[in-house]
Amino acid sequence: MGWIKKGIVLGGALLFLGGCAGGVEPAGSSTEEHQQPNHSEAEKDTNKGKNNEAHQPDLSKEREQDKGTSQGDDEDTVTERALVQKYSSIQPRQWGENVTGVKTALNTQEKVIALTLDACGGPNGSGYDQLLIQFLQQQKIPATLFVNSRWIDANKEAFLALSRDPLFEIENHGTEHKPLSVKGQSAYGVKGTESVAEAVREVMTNENKILELTGKKPKYFRSGTAYYDEVAVQIASDLGETAVNYNVLGDAGATFTSEQVKSALLAAQPGSIALLHMNQPKSGTAQGIIQAVPLLIEQGFRFVKLEDHSLK
Ligand SMILES: [Zn+2]
Repeated sequence: MGWIKKGIVLGGALLFLGGCAGGVEPAGSSTEEHQQPNHSEAEKDTNKGKNNEAHQPDLSKEREQDKGTSQGDDEDTVTERALVQKYSSIQPRQWGENVTGVKTALNTQEKVIALTLDACGGPNGSGYDQLLIQFLQQQKIPATLFVNSRWIDANKEAFLALSRDPLFEIENHGTEHKPLSVKGQSAYGVKGTESVAEAVREVMTNENKILELTGKKPKYFRSGTAYYDEVAVQIASDLGETAVNYNVLGDAGATFTSEQVKSALLAAQPGSIALLHMNQPKSGTAQGIIQAVPLLIEQGFRFVKLEDHSLK
């Protein structure tokens, strides 16, 4: 069967989920977010002091064994059951963008920046910013693309073309674009996954889609809204995906003007990860990037993909 895995049963239909991700992130896919783009700085600050207790179990070996030995029973179901058993009695203590286990920067002092472009999907989030992608291709600027299942479904050909371009690294932006929670916590009015099982599926179903379409398994995960609890982060890790956020809020859910995007990017430090969007062609994101990139190159910065460095 190789890497082709059978689908698993998803409870319930695909729901309309609000915007993209965090900070003031994804005004991406919901009109609600467009109306209230700037409330999250405060929320972010309230999350910084939260306690740092970590849960460190590791199921990756068991999952590999599952893959090698499961016969008959679907391996994803086996994985899901094992994770439910492992985590369902653990209460998360943190909720936010920077909880234990989430990486926010490249572990280097080199003058490098990772542009991470979310593609959120959904009713208001399935656009494709071709101007931005063409600019990156023309200038040979690498980027990491966090792609949601809904965006893939709406842009199949574009997705496949992007996945074949070595400039770009495809990573996992979730299945239904939900905050990753084990108990249904919300962010920006978007309800998170409600259980361990649902968190597993939010990661794994889109992972399977990307794997089947590209032949490559994602290594990194960013939830819809960029919110997590620390148990859910550990679940993603057990599934082989490191949760990645950012330390440069590049476009605040594609609500920034081009000037704001440019300013945000010009504040990057060596090793910064910038969060931006490639699904809102009417936003200021492309123009802000187009203006900032030459200035950053003049300052001696290079652009890299997440997979080019270890993360911290
Ligand atoms: Zn998103």
